[in-house]
Amino acid sequence: MDVQAKIKALQEELTHAQYLYYVKDAPTMSDYEYDQKYRELLALEEAHPQYRVPSSPTQRVGSKVEGAFEKVVHGRPMLSLSNVFNSDELRAFDNRVTKELGRHTEAYVVELKIDGLAVNLHYENGVFTRAVTRGDGRVGEDITANVKTIKSIPLYLENAPAFIEIRGEAYMPHSEFKRINEEREEEGLPTFVNPRNAAAGSLRQQDPAIAANRNLAFFAYAIGSEDGANIESQEQLLKTLEAFHFPVNPHYRLCHTIDEVIEIIQYWDEKRHELPYDTDGMVIKVNDFNDQDMLGSTAKDPKWATAYKYPPEEVETVLKDITINVGRTGVLTPTGELESVFVSGTNVSRVTLHNQDFITEKDIRIGDHVIVHKAAEIIPEVIRVVKEKRTGVEIPFKIPHICPVCGSPAVRRDGEAAIRCTNKHCPAIEKEKIIHFASRNAMNIDGLGPSIVENLINNKLIASVVDLYSLTVDQLVTMDRMGKKSAENLVKAIDDSKSRGLDRVLFGLGIPLIGSKAASTIARVLGSMDRFLTVTKEELLSVEEIGPTMADSIIEYRKDPEHITVVEGLVKAGLNMTIDTVEPAGNEMDGEIVVLTGKLSAMGRSEAGKLLEAHGAKVTGSVSKKTTLVVAGEDSGSKLTKANELGIRVINEEELLALIASWE
Ligand code: NAD
Repeated sequence: MDVQAKIKALQEELTHAQYLYYVKDAPTMSDYEYDQKYRELLALEEAHPQYRVPSSPTQRVGSKVEGAFEKVVHGRPMLSLSNVFNSDELRAFDNRVTKELGRHTEAYVVELKIDGLAVNLHYENGVFTRAVTRGDGRVGEDITANVKTIKSIPLYLENAPAFIEIRGEAYMPHSEFKRINEEREEEGLPTFVNPRNAAAGSLRQQDPAIAANRNLAFFAYAIGSEDGANIESQEQLLKTLEAFHFPVNPHYRLCHTIDEVIEIIQYWDEKRHELPYDTDGMVIKVNDFNDQDMLGSTAKDPKWATAYKYPPEEVETVLKDITINVGRTGVLTPTGELESVFVSGTNVSRVTLHNQDFITEKDIRIGDHVIVHKAAEIIPEVIRVVKEKRTGVEIPFKIPHICPVCGSPAVRRDGEAAIRCTNKHCPAIEKEKIIHFASRNAMNIDGLGPSIVENLINNKLIASVVDLYSLTVDQLVTMDRMGKKSAENLVKAIDDSKSRGLDRVLFGLGIPLIGSKAASTIARVLGSMDRFLTVTKEELLSVEEIGPTMADSIIEYRKDPEHITVVEGLVKAGLNMTIDTVEPAGNEMDGEIVVLTGKLSAMGRSEAGKLLEAHGAKVTGSVSKKTTLVVAGEDSGSKLTKANELGIRVINEEELLALIASWE
């Protein structure tokens, strides 16, 4: 290929990769591969500037701004960062800094590079007013409603200047990434490739209820435009952010020499795998703001900072076979059986291949050499196929349209990535339902793992979750490999699970789209299984973190008489169908039955509800004669009218805040 064609091919390939990464939140190329190709293109364009076109991916700072969100111009551009990949390049960066300043800079601040999504937060007179994505660096998108669901972002800053932009990284912790992907896979929804894309996808939702159901987190690390914050160094800036009560990553270090910087980078190369969130490198920043100003920026990156990117841990192995697992909702999930390899600390021999689209898109065939890594340090993933190693004997794979367990037809519904078994009573589905019910985030029944569940079903001792609660030691010991002691332990563990509470039961039922977080919100708001069985769609929608699709799913679930039989069976078995509310913090509201309605601006309704509960109140979803207090925010509707009709005490947000303040 001649140079011009090569440049053009790279430009096209990277433009497409940028689109998938920034707009679709679904990259198909690894960041490392992207960075390498990007560099290659940069170098080629540098050597042959006549082929550098304005639309080249090298000529753009960040993402395209697309979609329905309002566009917002940043007070100060949000630049990208230049990259270095080894200590020689880092020393070259240090030399450039020294050369431009005509002396050594006194210190660098080295921070972890959190792999999330940069957001810009506006505070006016201390009040959080807006959150904007980085977008193309100059103009971003208004994602305020979604960012407000990140609990660690303060809504009010003490002693803040009249206007200030706070910048940082919104990210998804590993535990949350794992939870959401497991739940999505179960639902037959496409899973997220990595925590960064999951975070980006969550923040670009039209329905903030979805963002609220994903526990995103945030680290602040920069200030954009501001009116007189008087900060002189990056270190002082981080301390100021801490004083404003922002989460600031605690692992930053002030380094006086480049050797010290390199030492820290080496330390984190290993250590970062133990962090509960993804990092893809370290950011090295000149500490002194005067020095930063003297160094200035290019159109794309500041010259006073650079990102050191770690090479990814990727390993090659052979895909020996593809097997199919049938999940709780009937989804047929393909699993890659690998020649065992050691990746990021453990042996990996199985990897999920998600769905047919994933297999087709990556052109994965049985017998292929594949590159594997761990997403979020825990979940093995096939990144790509080493097509150069194909010999012609590799076999393309199609997920069957017949359930491998019960033989019923399996179909792909419109708009879904998954293929599902159509038999509601497929033994695989029944089994997975029970496994899910017993799992840690649900009823947490110790010792009731997949193989025991399978044995119990095969021995006809159980057919549904309700049967678990009538199992006896005598029955259990009739099974192979089940001694008296284990049988007693299992019966006790099942009995213990009765006390878990409504939130766990609701999650355990496996209602589509109701993950553990939504289940706990619903349980908290409704307070009893009776309410769950009668709650209307409108009432569900008035719960802050429940969107229309979730509400529909609950209503749909309740329509099936078999589901009601299960619920009734569990009630009869004596399961605790109430919820232990929040840790008590006071008893000022003891005996009060409170309803929150309308929009509250200083805190969300659920946050206010938690606080009231922590101080002894019972918070319910609808106004009745028993209600003692109604908190009416902006745009309160029928609940306020009803409260007035019933003569119930009503307070507005200001009065609520005064009430809360009086407890302190
Ligand atoms: P970048 O991710 O390399 O670095 C800049 C970003 O770092 C900032 O915007 C901020 O979000 C983040 N950051 C994290 N911690 C920080 C800290 N402590 N201080 C300052 N910033 C911090 O650059 P970019 O322009 O955001 O994205 C380009 C990168 O995106 C590429 O290098 C590549 O890795 C990835 N990408 C991948 C694909 C793909 O197909 N895989 C496509 C496009 C881009």
